[in-house]
Amino acid sequence: MTDAASAPAAGHSFIHQIVAADVAAGKQGGAVKTRFPPEPNGYLHLGHAKSICLNFGIAGEFSGTCNLRFDDTNPAKEDVEYVDAIQADVRWLGFEWSALHHASDYFEILYLCAEKLIRDGKAFVCDLSAEEVREYRGTLTEPGRNSPWRDRSVEENLDLFRRMRAGEFADGARTLRAKIDMASGNINLRDPAIYRIRKVSHQNTGDAWPIYPMYDYAHCVSDAVEGITHSLCTLEFEDHRPLYDWCLDQLDVPNMAELAEPMRRAGLTGRASRPQQIEFARGNLDYTVMSKRKLMALVSEKLVDGWDDPRMPTLAGVRRRGFPAAAIRAFWDRAGVTKQNSVIEFSVLEGCVRDVLDASAPRRMAVLDPLKLVIDNVDAAHEEAIEFSNHPKNPDFGTRKVPFSRELWIEREDFAEVPPKGFHRLVPGGEVRLRGVGIVRCTDLVKDADGHVVEVHCTLDAETRHGMPGADRKVKGTIHWVSAKHAVAAETRLYERLFTCADPDDTSDGKTYADHINRDAKRVVQAWIEPAAAETAREGNVQFERLGYFVADRLDHTPEKPVFNRTVTLRDSYAKR
Ligand code: ATP
Ligand code: MG
Repeated sequence: MTDAASAPAAGHSFIHQIVAADVAAGKQGGAVKTRFPPEPNGYLHLGHAKSICLNFGIAGEFSGTCNLRFDDTNPAKEDVEYVDAIQADVRWLGFEWSALHHASDYFEILYLCAEKLIRDGKAFVCDLSAEEVREYRGTLTEPGRNSPWRDRSVEENLDLFRRMRAGEFADGARTLRAKIDMASGNINLRDPAIYRIRKVSHQNTGDAWPIYPMYDYAHCVSDAVEGITHSLCTLEFEDHRPLYDWCLDQLDVPNMAELAEPMRRAGLTGRASRPQQIEFARGNLDYTVMSKRKLMALVSEKLVDGWDDPRMPTLAGVRRRGFPAAAIRAFWDRAGVTKQNSVIEFSVLEGCVRDVLDASAPRRMAVLDPLKLVIDNVDAAHEEAIEFSNHPKNPDFGTRKVPFSRELWIEREDFAEVPPKGFHRLVPGGEVRLRGVGIVRCTDLVKDADGHVVEVHCTLDAETRHGMPGADRKVKGTIHWVSAKHAVAAETRLYERLFTCADPDDTSDGKTYADHINRDAKRVVQAWIEPAAAETAREGNVQFERLGYFVADRLDHTPEKPVFNRTVTLRDSYAKR
């Protein structure tokens, strides 16, 4: 685990307590080994971050290890693009795995384990079609029926399984099934398939295997050979735990001598374990969807500009949006780990983002919707560099020089010809403080043919400038500005939430999540920014004073052609609505 991530991620959750008790009891020699096992069929999202923080956090707290394992047993949907992106995202989040593995590295091991199950009379080759299997399975209230192929001899099963492996049979023609109990109250135990024939190229093993292990079977064996002690997964696997345990009980992986050589070949040097599965509730957030399938649809239907679109709840997306990794870790830490499903407000995550950025983002000035302000009593040739502190609360951020001249850009909404009640900014004849400069009084307006104000004229009260006797004179409002002559044009991407309702997955009104997309969630405006802002490094966070937190886009930004994404506004504007 990297330093940045050393804050405890799992708090004192029930899982923390289980692990602590196991360590105290010397279970598994007191070792703690966890893993984060993504399927490389999409990009990681904020929900995955919960699992990452939990698995790496538990390992970190108990001086254990955490592996990254690609659960790549389903070749049709998987891709190396995802394998690379997942690694980048886990590292970005602040974690480093002890070992990187692929479930596909264990295909030989999984195959040998299956032969053992067959030899022990615990698995059989079944010729039922997928549809027949469904008919035989029974229902929640009715027991299933035994497959007519269930009593094949060990020899016949071994022969057929080897021929499945040799590629003799067509896709779907046969499966290898565990022989458990067709009357079990738990449908997962009704002779589940553990291997299927699938003549598809695999991104890691190519065409070496025409058969692929099923998830439940592959997962427990993968955990065991990696020496995982605590296999943490989400609640929907609770009903699968009896199968997880059944497989491991039948196989006794740590004592399978025939696995020693293949384990070495798969890069496994440690001892196998008898892992324990523990389930926890998925992390959910309102105003978004967090399933790879749905996120994939948003990308492929071009409703967003790719997996790393800043509107996406993917880690690549929120990273590009400017969310600091520390804020995401703090968020899941605050949310805690329980067995109760719940939905957390997105604004809680945004609050964590503001907390981190308030402390870490230097302040800059930018104008998003410009209105020209001319200070008539400042000479047209006048140029001045005013010293500004980069952070109001932290002198370590130092200072910078902000150029000042006669013509400035101010925010259009900071001027009102006819002010609404309680308006404390610039009005005709009124005064306002220009941040870092002094107090100006509005003396005149210039309008275009349509009557729109295009220029505001002011005079600066020289007595109120820095170091002058009137510097402390009070006026109600302070506004920010950028010198027109020195301003750098910047593309600014303003983002809102991607969905218009809190629960886009709610289909009770006959709508689907796609119907709830906020088509106006991205707005691009040209802003004027001070020169120091343009110099921000890619992925550098800044606070544009009074406007919000922004990040220099990690792909498109250059000092010559700055591009900033709005990460989050300064205050929670959703709470008000
Ligand atoms: P999705 O439905 O988005 O595809 P998944 O669970 O199928 O998610 P995996 O790649 O299998 O995605 O997930 C890797 C790990 O992350 C698993 O252990 C899974 O339980 C965990 N995980 C996925 N989503 C969440 C979530 N919302 N909260 C906590 N853990 C999650
Ligand atoms: Mg999955």
